[in-house]
Amino acid sequence: MDVREKIESLAQKFVPEFVAVRRHLHQNPELSFQEYDTCAYIKKRLQAIGITDIASVAETGLLATIEGRQKGDTVLLRADMDALPILEKNKVSYASKNDGVMHACGHDAHSASLLLCAKILWEIKEDLNGSIKLLFQPGEEVVPGGASLVMQEKAYQDLGCLPHIGQHVQPNLPVGKVGFCSGKFMASMDELFLTINGKGGHGAMPESLIDPVLIASHIIVAAQQLVSRMASPRTPSVLSFGKVIANGAVNIVPDEVHIEGTFRTFDKAWRKDALQRLEKLVTSIAEGMGGSCELKINHGYPHLVNDTVLTQDMKSAAIEYLGSKNVVDLEPWMAAEDFAYYSQKNPSCFYLLGVGNEQKGIRSGLHTQTFDIDENALEIGGGLMAWLAVKNLGHS
Ligand SMILES: [Zn+2]
Ligand SMILES: [Zn+2]
Repeated sequence: MDVREKIESLAQKFVPEFVAVRRHLHQNPELSFQEYDTCAYIKKRLQAIGITDIASVAETGLLATIEGRQKGDTVLLRADMDALPILEKNKVSYASKNDGVMHACGHDAHSASLLLCAKILWEIKEDLNGSIKLLFQPGEEVVPGGASLVMQEKAYQDLGCLPHIGQHVQPNLPVGKVGFCSGKFMASMDELFLTINGKGGHGAMPESLIDPVLIASHIIVAAQQLVSRMASPRTPSVLSFGKVIANGAVNIVPDEVHIEGTFRTFDKAWRKDALQRLEKLVTSIAEGMGGSCELKINHGYPHLVNDTVLTQDMKSAAIEYLGSKNVVDLEPWMAAEDFAYYSQKNPSCFYLLGVGNEQKGIRSGLHTQTFDIDENALEIGGGLMAWLAVKNLGHS
């Protein structure tokens, strides 16, 4: 039996245990940077496999090591661990027991897959030359992102530059399939907070007011120029406002309006330029109308770039593992992901794991109250990642 066949059969043999692990994590979700029980549980599972080289990183994260029989290259495999402030609506036996908190982004599946991967690699470590770093990373969902904290840790910095591999579940992709995108894959993300100040009062006497609602309306419309007129048509950009608060009444104009939104793109220089232009635009519109506008920017993650050589190699390896019909090419995606931080400094490959199943009715999107996965994806989630790790160590 060659190494690939060994991995396949071990993934099949071990997967029931890791379906249970995923369900445990799903039932006990914890918010970003509060993953204390999750961290303790994962540590216990790693120790049960036999892994003892486990360092704590970023307070609630873990960096574990599996050494092969001989010295060689090193590869890092990453899973995130945090859940979201969402009330789960699924009526399943493993639904969240922590009301208002839910693994609606599949990070439970990422962690369970990496544990399965760890158990497989531990089992075949005599066949490996080199070492594997298993990174269980907290706080993916919340800026500044756990990745940026992990990267400040000595245990991580001591590794130097090395290939990073990560995966994310994708309900739009049927279970059994995985997808790769070479080069720029996911967008940078900045959070925008605008406060428009005017002078409120009785709606029947506009001549004595400075109407912040009208100013806000102009700002919302005008700001789209950033995407439609100022951005190059060749650079994808998105500006979306999802929260507008003008807390007056039918005949009361409020003193101020709050707007929150997000700006996303794939180009570092344009990102900086766009945010400067936005600030100038919103402040001058507000001033021109007699009010003022303050723009606060919470700088989020950079764009995620998949190394072209590594990604091509990983895609070829995935074809060996799953067959060409199960490995698809992906378009760049405007979602953001803090794995991007690693990708700016290391050759990286972040790919998507199909978890959708129309026949079973599993199709809800990420970050929804009814998000779930087809758990058959876990066998691939763990097995394929083990195979990609082996391929990185130059073994076949
Ligand atoms: Zn998410
Ligand atoms: Zn996620």
